[in-house]
Amino acid sequence: MIDNSVFHNKKVAFHTLGCKLNFAETSAIGKKMTDEGFVKARAGESADVCVINTCSVTDTADRKCRQAISKLNRQHPNAIMVVTGCYAQLKPEEISKIEGVDLVLGANEKFSILDYIRNIDTDKPASFHTTKINKIKEFTPSCSRDDRTRYFLKVQDGCDYYCTYCTIPFARGASRSASIEQTIEKAWEAIHAGAKEIVLTGVNIGDFGKSNGESFLDLVKAFDAIDSDVRFRISSIEPNLLTDELIDFVVNSKKIMPHFHIPLQSGTNEVLQLMKRKYKRELFENKVQKIKSLMPHAFIGVDVIVGVRGETAELFEASCEFIDTLDISQLHVFTYSERAGTKMLDIEQNTPISERKKRSEILHLLSDEKIQKFYESHILKTYPVLWESRQQGDKLVGFTNNYIKVERLYDKSKVNTVEMVQLGDWNEEKSALTVLIQ
Ligand code: SF4
Repeated sequence: MIDNSVFHNKKVAFHTLGCKLNFAETSAIGKKMTDEGFVKARAGESADVCVINTCSVTDTADRKCRQAISKLNRQHPNAIMVVTGCYAQLKPEEISKIEGVDLVLGANEKFSILDYIRNIDTDKPASFHTTKINKIKEFTPSCSRDDRTRYFLKVQDGCDYYCTYCTIPFARGASRSASIEQTIEKAWEAIHAGAKEIVLTGVNIGDFGKSNGESFLDLVKAFDAIDSDVRFRISSIEPNLLTDELIDFVVNSKKIMPHFHIPLQSGTNEVLQLMKRKYKRELFENKVQKIKSLMPHAFIGVDVIVGVRGETAELFEASCEFIDTLDISQLHVFTYSERAGTKMLDIEQNTPISERKKRSEILHLLSDEKIQKFYESHILKTYPVLWESRQQGDKLVGFTNNYIKVERLYDKSKVNTVEMVQLGDWNEEKSALTVLIQ
């Protein structure tokens, strides 16, 4: 048992896997712990407590979590090892048996971590604490810092959709969010801490406000009305929730960036139906056309999953043909992996792993073509770039409002500032455009 007073100056180490949401939550857990006296362990220092925030999006993610637990256990053999996050919610007992683990906390318990640490008896076998996922109703907005400039603000959690391949609703529960007022308050904390760009994240952000009569559009309007020079990005939003009103609003907003991330998942209606997605490909096409007709310079990133059950070679080909016709900027390609408890396992037609990999490679190549075309269409044009604190070799890196990665020779005085720059050609590795004239 740890006495409350001995939290003072105890060292804690964090390890986060998975999405930006997890990073935002680790940050919130970190804040709770440092408020109570913990200090973050520096590289090479032994920690008294290790917190691992896990992901469970694929089998590979589960494996990576187990590897991370073992590594931290080797680095900090005497630390109290706490595992939380999606994997912990889904398989608490399995994790509690991993060597070195002391405590496993589910989705509802992670923010009460201090109470559990206070009462822990490390001589006893690891304990696990989870709440039935349909009982989780609480939501706390949280924010994490990517680097000095960019923050990820969690505005929503959970999902009421049950796409047949996905375990997120089992790991994170029903859709929920705080009020607009509470969310804006959290944004102000980030702005006061120096944020120049805030990315609005969540599991299904378009569902924001569903339980209290507010809407995502109202939230976006409230962000737009913030009196500060901070800029905002909307992260992944389901195509059926990306309303025409929201697109129209972004067109006229100076604060909400012309950047969309829309999950398509498959380019055929047959597979979309097998996935139980809530739209047809025609709706997706309409959204892309509307965005590009009003904002030809907008960046559109699109998620696709390849090799799901029921995706025959013919359907994959048809999907590629459809995706090829879309005026989008980049694909985020995910390879399907079976997840226990999902409806997709009822579909008999399966795709061999080698074929899934091949399909992923094909779409990665298509994505390379799309991004090159998008970047090249911007050469010699002038855009506002927010220079970040990251230094890559002798380069300073930043992003335009429409999410083009840009680099210039490192200049400390530019960090965390917005500059209008004319974009040059690709750099040698073709990963960014260089600044031509300032
Ligand atoms: S919308 Fe579908 S894929 Fe996305 S989290 Fe919800 S269930 Fe999973």
